[in-house]
Amino acid sequence: MEKNQIIQLTITDLSYEAMGVAHYEGMTVFVASALPGEEISAQVFKVKSRFAFAKIVKVLKASPDRITVDQHEWVKTGLASLAHIKYAKQLEFKRTQVVNLLQKAHLDEVTVAETLASPEETGYRNKAQVPVRQYHGQLEIGFFRHHSHDLVPLTDFFTTDPAIDQVLVAVRDILREQRVPAYDERQNRGEVRYLDVRRSKATGEIMVILVCCHKDFPQLPAVADAIKQLDHVSGVILNHNPKKTNVILGKTDYLVWGKPQIVDKIGDLQFKISPQSFFQINSLQTPRLYDIAIKAAKLTPDDVVIDAYSGIGTIGLSVAKHVKAVRGVEVVRDAVRDAQENAELNDIHNANYLTGKAEEIMPRWAKEGVKADVILVDPPRKGLTSEFIEAAVKTSPKKVVYISCNPATMVRDLAEFQASGYHFNHIQPVDMFPQTPHVEAVTVLERD
Ligand code: SAH
Repeated sequence: MEKNQIIQLTITDLSYEAMGVAHYEGMTVFVASALPGEEISAQVFKVKSRFAFAKIVKVLKASPDRITVDQHEWVKTGLASLAHIKYAKQLEFKRTQVVNLLQKAHLDEVTVAETLASPEETGYRNKAQVPVRQYHGQLEIGFFRHHSHDLVPLTDFFTTDPAIDQVLVAVRDILREQRVPAYDERQNRGEVRYLDVRRSKATGEIMVILVCCHKDFPQLPAVADAIKQLDHVSGVILNHNPKKTNVILGKTDYLVWGKPQIVDKIGDLQFKISPQSFFQINSLQTPRLYDIAIKAAKLTPDDVVIDAYSGIGTIGLSVAKHVKAVRGVEVVRDAVRDAQENAELNDIHNANYLTGKAEEIMPRWAKEGVKADVILVDPPRKGLTSEFIEAAVKTSPKKVVYISCNPATMVRDLAEFQASGYHFNHIQPVDMFPQTPHVEAVTVLERD
């Protein structure tokens, strides 16, 4: 097989990144946007010893699961790499990811429910972080093409709340009008690197964060003045990120105008959210995810609950009124401050939040003899550490409820709990991120 060669392929499978998989002369070939059952002609663009990558030249026989995407940008950019697959099939694909991982880990006796569909299939994101770059002589917003830093200009972000898209475009126009220089990555020069916009579905409040190279720039007052005129904008924040880095946000935020947090709701609780704090991005699906986790926990009024990776306290505060006490741990200081304020805002007095790494605080709690009845964990993609799991087991909870955004690390961690006297037999995948390959899942571990 050679680069640029045109070959005919029959797609047999989908990879975990949702690439079509085919076999050709002993090689495995990965093809973006191709679906199982399809016959395609494809052009090879990368050849390794046992596998290759090719792109579709023509779909000769289309899968009934394919839907036509008119805006190929979404697929090209990697923003919505499942957009060409019917939604019911996307849900099946996500469930299969979990089933396959369990099989690999020899845990085939565990049952996996159908993936819980998201109430909204597009426009569900309550937050967007989009790069700002100079493109063909003018300032543009958009998205980076998959595995690159090439900007694809966009104004319809497809998975984002359309009200946020409108604000992004309006801010882009303000930056153009005020002649603010876009960030130039190669030279690490210019001004605005990213726009970060959040909108509360419950209150309609919108927060606009300008991620900038400098704390101040000559056009900032005029820019802020124009942004605050936009409907429902409640705060304008400058995030200072002077470094040559791929990390989007810098460490410091400056309030330019308005309020430093927006307020959102989950169930009947209110939550203040700061720029650096994590908040679940699918507003309508979040309460359903939490309900599954909370029901699985079967809490009683005497329970002490640990909420690990607690963010702004959303899960722990949702259960606080039904249990004896909640202890939270979270690494982002501003999020911990939000969690404490949120406890007060909702008149909750039995929840305490600590800033620190869960894998360090959990062993400390275990050493101090803290007893937990239920531990809720909701870690980032890399999952838990052995230190955390060992310490969690030491506190001897009846149950550990695991919410995961990465089933691979989840299955790894569940196996470790299983070796330490806990068992589980069911996993519920939940679709928080339609049109993307991301899989969220919930399971409960019980003491043997
Ligand atoms: N449970 C919350 C947050 C989940 S996201 C919610 O549902 O909104 C995961 C959170 O873990 C983020 O807030 C992130 O800042 C935090 N985090 C990441 N690494 C951590 C660590 N080592 N220790 C504690 N918290 C961590």
